Parts: sequence; structure tokens; C-alpha cells
Amino acid sequence: MTVSKRKFKAEVNKVLDLVIHSLYSHKEIFLRELISNASDAIDKARYLSLTDPAINPDGADWQIELIPDTAAGTLTVRDNGIGLTRDEAAEALGTIAHSGTKEFLKLLESREVKDNPELIGQFGVGFYSAFMVADQVTVLSRRAGAPADQAICWQSEADGSYTLEDVVKDGRGTDIILHLKEEAKQYLQEWELRKVVKQYSDFIEYPVVMAVTRSKPDPEDKEQRIEETETVTLNSRKAIWLKDKNEISAEEYHEFYRHISHDYTEPAKTIHYRAEGTTEFSALLYLPKQRPFNIYYQDYKIGPTLYVRRVQIMDHCEAMLPPYLRFVKGVVESADLPLNVSREILQDNKTVAVINKNLTKKVLDTLAEMKKSEPEGYADFYGQFGRVLKEGIHHDHARRETIADLLLFESTSTEPGKKISLADYVARMPAEQQEIYYMTGPDRATAEASPYLEAFKEKGLEVLLATDDIDDLIISELGRYQEKEFQSALKGDLDLGDGTKEEKQKEYGDLLALMQEQLKDQVSAVRVSGRLKESAVCLVAGEHDLDPQMEKMFRALGQEVPKGERILEVNPDHPLIVKMQALFAADATSGRLKEYVELLFDQALLLEGDRPRDPVAFARGLSKLMAETA
Ligand code: ADP
Repeated sequence: MTVSKRKFKAEVNKVLDLVIHSLYSHKEIFLRELISNASDAIDKARYLSLTDPAINPDGADWQIELIPDTAAGTLTVRDNGIGLTRDEAAEALGTIAHSGTKEFLKLLESREVKDNPELIGQFGVGFYSAFMVADQVTVLSRRAGAPADQAICWQSEADGSYTLEDVVKDGRGTDIILHLKEEAKQYLQEWELRKVVKQYSDFIEYPVVMAVTRSKPDPEDKEQRIEETETVTLNSRKAIWLKDKNEISAEEYHEFYRHISHDYTEPAKTIHYRAEGTTEFSALLYLPKQRPFNIYYQDYKIGPTLYVRRVQIMDHCEAMLPPYLRFVKGVVESADLPLNVSREILQDNKTVAVINKNLTKKVLDTLAEMKKSEPEGYADFYGQFGRVLKEGIHHDHARRETIADLLLFESTSTEPGKKISLADYVARMPAEQQEIYYMTGPDRATAEASPYLEAFKEKGLEVLLATDDIDDLIISELGRYQEKEFQSALKGDLDLGDGTKEEKQKEYGDLLALMQEQLKDQVSAVRVSGRLKESAVCLVAGEHDLDPQMEKMFRALGQEVPKGERILEVNPDHPLIVKMQALFAADATSGRLKEYVELLFDQALLLEGDRPRDPVAFARGLSKLMAETA
């Protein structure tokens, strides 16, 4: 027999510390967490048993058992689920088995979590909550299908280490044995356990059973009392998604949401319906209030849990919902799918396609309704998930318009933090304005301060501030909204001036040609600007090119993108340009003029958020000029 003592990974100690000290006011949740884990373990075993008879050879009923032992001061949570091998135990119970460990630790330090410790639920620290009520936890486990002598015993006192040894165990599955702390001894009492199970785990599909002993008068001798033990089931087990809506309380909906999402905040919306017709299914979906930390991760799990005739087939069925609705959590149950479906089969299954279409519509309709009737709630939701939702414009062509109706943007006319929809924008466009103007940038302040908005500001034209990294892409793909084309403030030829642009273009034509010749390797054209008021020059992208910000982002991601066209725009009313025109008239070959052109181009790069081509040369040139004029 091998016994080994091991140290917890550092992050486990931190988690334990937090769980033990911060979650203390809700210590009864340990039971929910352990029952939930037991239920997951049975789901896995039951699913495998569909194809592998060795998993449940005797056909025993799946169940979770609570065993309070007053004499020993222990409460055991027993399941006959999948169990753990030695390696799995070391991995699952000695580390935080989640991809976002770094994020998690960052979060642990944050104010948000210190104030709302329930947030840590989404990181799956469920098991460790046992230490809120127990000073020692023992896990006995035998993997389904493994022989009795290959069971393991894991044990820890939350003192930074745990032991793991090989033991013999009857029956498959896991016993979690809690050596209860003195102040947690109430969890040995029947009524307390009944209450907690009812409150938090009533909908668990498997029976949560407990042996209870009653003393009653002996029928043979009325003077005597006898003790009788019976097994009672503590939960009602009704799959909540199959129940009638009006049989379910808000609290039950919420509790079930917690169970499937590990998110302890209330969901923003609950969608519960049964579809009837050629394809029948029940769906219980939730729109969360808070973005999970890992929603942009590659390994983020998409899709609701799929049940077929009450059997959980997979906990995330990505074929059921498009990735841009990956924030939706929930359960879908259909009787029209075979029990032994695999992910591959699901990918091109007709029933699944119908369900997917139906769920997608339902979610988008719900969002539209929310936007209309609870604009503030919708704005909060959008703040969390808008960036994900708008991916749909790129991926779901057929529903582009519908998704466009759901978009929100800040604009140069809104207060910071307040957003408007495209429909709001169009509704307040002045009659003579033909296009929907937008400005991209990393954040509102940068976008607003940009020289590209000078003329818009002067004319009082509202410009949408598109600050998400993918905004330019999706707006370009959308092309138009309610018959109005989108026009980027950064791209194309704009004429927001006083109507003298063409005239000026002629007047400055020769100077512009000279600049163009000098900068021919950098820009495709030099022209009079219809968008500048304060600044002398700026660089703009071609009408159909990628936004320079996007170009940079793609490059940073290591993607090949064609270098877009760049046009240098010149403000003919700027004193410097007026001076240059005079210099040019006096001597078209002037060296000074050449220096100006170089410096101006580097300035334009700076305004675009780039660096001058040669920062040292730029600084020298500038200093030289300043010295000359000082
Ligand atoms: P989560 O359940 O969110 O993954 P937990 O800390 O609650 O996080 O559990 C960690 C892991 O331990 C689980 O993912 C599972 O692999 C394993 N585990 C916990 N309880 C059981 C159990 N009763 N049977 C089998 N495996 C379990």
C-alpha cells in the first residue's frame, strides 16, 4: 500500500483560506456543492453505462446518500457515480482544476470578490467548501469498473497538505466523509439536512436518501417503544425544466441556475418554454447578468446541457446554440434524439438544427423585448455581453439585421457610459445627413479627442464611438442600417467643410503634388481635407480598406493582412499650410519645405496612434525648427 503526503498547489491554499473565512455566513452551501458533485459523477457513470455494461453491472439504482453518524461526529455524502482514480484524485482534489487559474488568483485579490465572495463559485471551488464545516475531510473513492482493491483514500485537514493512499472499497463511487467542526454539528440532524437539501438541491435528478430512525409505540406492547429505520428521499427530483411554469417559484429558477452555472448572481432573464410540433423539446435557458471571466477563452464551453429522455447526454452541447450566444446557460431536453448521440452526430443532425434555430430566435427575441421594455437592464446586459453578441454580425449573415437592431454605441452626443441604438441614431439624424458616422478607437476618450472628429464637432454632427476591437469589421460587414450607409470618420473622402474643398484642391494643387511626390512611398494620395479644423494634417484609410486600428490588431495576432491604402489629408486653412503655400510660391525647391513635409507626415502618424518612422530624426528635426524660430 502506498501512502503519500503531498502539498497543495499554492492556489489551493489561497482558495481554502478564502472559502473557510469569507463564505462563512453561508456555510450550509457545502452540502449543495457536494450533492452537486455527486450528481455530476452519477451523470457521467450513467452516460457511460449506456454503452459499457461494466460501469453498473448489477443495475443498481443511482442515488446519493447522506449518512450522519452522531457517535463519530461525521457526515458522509455517498454516491454510486463514476468515482476517481488515484491520478484523478490528485488532480481534481489537489489543484484548482480550471483553465483560468491566473485570472482566478487575480480575481481573488480584487475588491469585487472581497465584497462578494459568492463570485468564486464560478471557479469551481465547490469541493473545498467542505472545509467550512469540517476540520478533516476524507474522500474514499473507487472508479466505476475498477476492482475493489484499487480504491483510494484522500485526506486533508486543510493545513496545506493532503495524503493519498490505496485502499479497498466496496462498491463504486465516492464517499465524502466530513469530520464536522463543533460549531457545525447541526448537520448531523435530520431536520437540518432535510431543510438544506430542500432549499438547495430539490431538483437534483437522483434521489438524495437518508436512513431515519423513528421511535414508535410497540404494537405488541403499548407500554414499550420500538425503533424503526426507514430510508427517506429528501428531494422531490422533478426536473425543473419539465415542470409547468406556474409551478416554479423565482427562487427555484434561481437555484437551478446556480446549480448549472456556478454563478451566484441572479440571472438577467429566464427563458422557459416547450416547443411542440414536428420537433418537440423543452428548454430552460438563462441570460446571466455577469460575464464569466473566461468567455473569450478558446476552451470556453458553449451550449446548454442536453438531456434525452431524462438522461444527461452532455453538459455542453455546442451544436444547440451559435457561439455568439455562448453566454446563454441552460438545459434542453428532447425526446427526438437517440440516447447514444455523439458530438459528431449532433453536428449535422436535423433535429438539432431545428432546435438551434428555434433557441437562437427565442434568445434574440428575448433580447429585443428586453431592450424595448427594460432599457436599463438591457444596457447592463449589453455592457457585459455586447461584444460577444456582435460577433453574430460576422458569423450569422441571415440574422444580421436582427442583431444590428440589438447593438448599442456611445456617441459624441451621449454622456459617457450612456449608449444609443442604431435606430436612435438614425431617428435623430438631421434631414440633410445621408450617412451614419462612426469613429473607432480603443476607448471613448481617445476616439473623442481624435483630430478626425474636428469637423464633425464643429458642425454638431453626432458620431458613434465604436470602441470594441471588432467594431470596424462588423460595421463594414453590415454596410448599411435602415438604408443609411455607414461612414467611418477615419476612412474615405469626407466633405464636411464650407463647400470650398474643390476650389482649395485646385488652389493648392501644385503644393499637394509636390508633397505627394516626396511621400510617394508612404501614401497613395495627398489631398485637401474635408474633416480637419484644428490640425494641419491627418492620415486616412481608403474607403474599402481595413481601419488602421484593425490592421494593427490583426498583425498583433500574427495574421497576414494586406497593407491598406493611406491618404494624407491637408487642412488648407491651417496657418502652417498657408505658410508652406507661400514658401512653395517663392521657391518650389526649398529645403525647408522638404523638411516640413517630412515632419508633417510623422505628425500624421502620431495622430493615427502610430510612431514616427524614425523617432530620433523626428525629434531632431523638430528641435532644429524650434531653435530657428525661438
Ligand atoms: P467542479 O465541480 O466545479 O469541477 P469541485 O472542486 O467541486 O469543482 O470538484 C473538483 C473535481 O473533483 C470535479 O471536477 C470532479 O472531477 C472531482 N469530484 C468532486 N466530487 C466528486 C465525486 N463525488 N465523484 C467523482 N468526482 C468528484
